[in-house]
Amino acid sequence: MKVVKFGGSSLSDASQLKKVLDIVKSDIKRQIVIVSAPGKRDKNDTKVTDALIKYFKNYINHKDITENQKWIIKRYKDIIDELNLPITLLEDIKQSIEKLATLPIEHNDYLYDSFLSEGENSNAKIIAEFFKQSGLDASYVHPKEAGLIVSSEPSNARILPSSYDKIENLASRDDILVIPGFFGVTKDNQICTFSRGGSDITGAIIAAGIKAESYENFTDVDGIFAAHPGIIKNPEPILELTYREMRELAYAGFSVLHDEALIPAYRGKIPLVIKNTNNPSHPGTRIVLERQHNQNTVVGISGDKGFVSINISKYLMNREVGFGKKLLQILEDLNISWEHMPTGIDDLSIVLRERELTPIKEQEIVTRLTRELEVDTVTVEHHLSIIMIVGENMKNHIGVTAKATQALSNHNINLSMISQGSSEVSVLFVIKTQQEKEAIKALYQTFFAQQ
Ligand code: ASP
Repeated sequence: MKVVKFGGSSLSDASQLKKVLDIVKSDIKRQIVIVSAPGKRDKNDTKVTDALIKYFKNYINHKDITENQKWIIKRYKDIIDELNLPITLLEDIKQSIEKLATLPIEHNDYLYDSFLSEGENSNAKIIAEFFKQSGLDASYVHPKEAGLIVSSEPSNARILPSSYDKIENLASRDDILVIPGFFGVTKDNQICTFSRGGSDITGAIIAAGIKAESYENFTDVDGIFAAHPGIIKNPEPILELTYREMRELAYAGFSVLHDEALIPAYRGKIPLVIKNTNNPSHPGTRIVLERQHNQNTVVGISGDKGFVSINISKYLMNREVGFGKKLLQILEDLNISWEHMPTGIDDLSIVLRERELTPIKEQEIVTRLTRELEVDTVTVEHHLSIIMIVGENMKNHIGVTAKATQALSNHNINLSMISQGSSEVSVLFVIKTQQEKEAIKALYQTFFAQQ
């Protein structure tokens, strides 16, 4: 059995849904279909999930919601009309959308999630009906019925491990199941969503639960490329990579797949395949436990901007017991999550994402470091980027970092920091954001263009 998930752009209108039908029909193993809410039909369009957010905001602020409701209902009506689906289906969806504006506003932690979930929920009903009318034995299955019981963390749910027993039962069904992605229900029967883009997570959970042969994630690109196509012209496609490599690439800018979706697939050892709804014969990218077909030392080069470094120095820091603990306590007090901590003998830097810091928090850190930790100097460096070369085979090769630093130095790119974890799956460089593109080009030239 295969689990297939279709993203919003694959479900944006009737012509896309016909492609989805063909994909499901072309392989009888594609028996469980996870769907997102309808995405953008063109660049200027609005995703249904974003329209639901606007609807929610107007509702809680007691503003007029008629236009919001109309827009969303019309969005589904267009699809229903074009596919000649029964009018009763539209009635059902209309009621569900309108009912949202009767839910209690006060003391309702799950109101936002209830609004957002309706995007996928209504879409799953339409798609199941479309499949049925096209001759498939298909059923709509609500996440509760599927067994997706999640933690009580609004907009940030996690699957409860006990769910997997019930999910496993789906494997004994003979019909094609269409399940809305993105949300589950809590033990108290509240609708609770994963974080944004979370339909990928639903697919991975179901695939792991039924021990699927594979989890195919259909999107609008042919797969994952060795570098960002916006920076490198026609980059090499990656046909195969490991979960760990994907995780590292996703950390620094490869956003094709929700990074939380990797965990259930990894634990269940389910191969995850990224494929293109608009080009389904393309093999896509397979994410597996161990690579068999791709022997490249470096499989991909990623880069992400928006990092800040807090650089601290204090004479004899190396001998001061508890210095690190006190420093991290300041960050914890300010609810700041940090990413990397490279150290020298008497100096230490904390690299974090820019979004973690506000000017007030930044000032507070500098003040407390000076007053409480009596540091000699503290400076905050903004506009930094992280560049990563990723590949499990690097641990068996000497000189990969040397090649990378040589390429960067040939382009006059200063490295503020280099770091490699003990797993040796990636080497990470911190550089100035203005040199990010040039750095990626230089590394791509070294590791791919010359291969
Ligand atoms: N529709 C949701 C979002 O836009 C979830 C998803 O598409 O995966 O975030």
